[in-house]
Amino acid sequence: MEPVYIKTYKSGELQKKIARFKQILSNCTLCPRNCRVRRTENKSGVCKTGRLAQVASFDLHFGEESPLVGHGGSGTIFFAHCNLGCVFCQNYSISQTDTRFQEVYPNQLAFIMLELQKKGAENINFVTPSHVAAQIVEALPEAIEQGLDLPLVYNTSSYDALNTLKLLDGVIDIYLADTKFISPGHSQKYAHATDYPEVAMQAIQEMYAQVGGIVLDEQGRVRKGLMIRHLLMPEDIAGTEEWLDFLHQQGMHDVYLNIMDQYHPAGQADEFPELMNRISYTQWERVVNMARKMGFKYIDEGSSRIFKQSLRHFAAKLF
Ligand code: SF4
Repeated sequence: MEPVYIKTYKSGELQKKIARFKQILSNCTLCPRNCRVRRTENKSGVCKTGRLAQVASFDLHFGEESPLVGHGGSGTIFFAHCNLGCVFCQNYSISQTDTRFQEVYPNQLAFIMLELQKKGAENINFVTPSHVAAQIVEALPEAIEQGLDLPLVYNTSSYDALNTLKLLDGVIDIYLADTKFISPGHSQKYAHATDYPEVAMQAIQEMYAQVGGIVLDEQGRVRKGLMIRHLLMPEDIAGTEEWLDFLHQQGMHDVYLNIMDQYHPAGQADEFPELMNRISYTQWERVVNMARKMGFKYIDEGSSRIFKQSLRHFAAKLF
């Protein structure tokens, strides 16, 4: 299956999208924060990112969901800074710091994608892309001209502007979307974003309309579709049942669903006593059983899958 962005490039639509993205950056409304700063003049808003994307690291990653990892690993590109900024972020030192990371021009970002492809990546996985969606798309023509042909993964908190997502239609093959908070009170308290639940629900509906449920190839690798991540939180801060119910009501039973139990206090979590606990296996199992009963077809195996993947990767390195 050919990635969607190839056709968009050949039709000339990709260049039109790049032009539109540049207009958006000139008075930035790329994400729901709507800072309206001139990023084209290197001004920055909440996301602390100016004209160019900043890359914290890139490599093959074997800890992602198995349909993304395949044999070669997921080619992850971690962007620095974030437009959401959860206080308990597990990547706090990258997402919420004043440090400037390596800025990359479009041709350098294209080079990174091609390097990951050369190393055997199964896909290009843009981690925390919402504030640099414009820069990602801008890098694509060069990458395509140099031979990029892997599926593109948009690995997002789901705090995405609808207009930005609409411009990504025909560019992104796989959406990997978080479902973080269902309560405006919690999203305000832990991420200063009262509108997160409303924005994320709308975003997930748009992503599903674009790419649908997951499509796997004969080797079980995802080629297209929506994958949902839900991190279980202490004291049900994420609103787990309500999120499952939302997906169920939307008839999204063919998405890949990863209910995650690996929450641990990080970042500024120690300022909130309720964020200091962890999630038990029993809590995880109860939610997974509930999701099965609701009819979700592709449910991640959880920690046991991560353990098996690590063993496989370790064994492959040894022999
Ligand atoms: S992308 Fe950054 S500057 Fe633009 S609206 Fe969002 S947080 Fe503000």
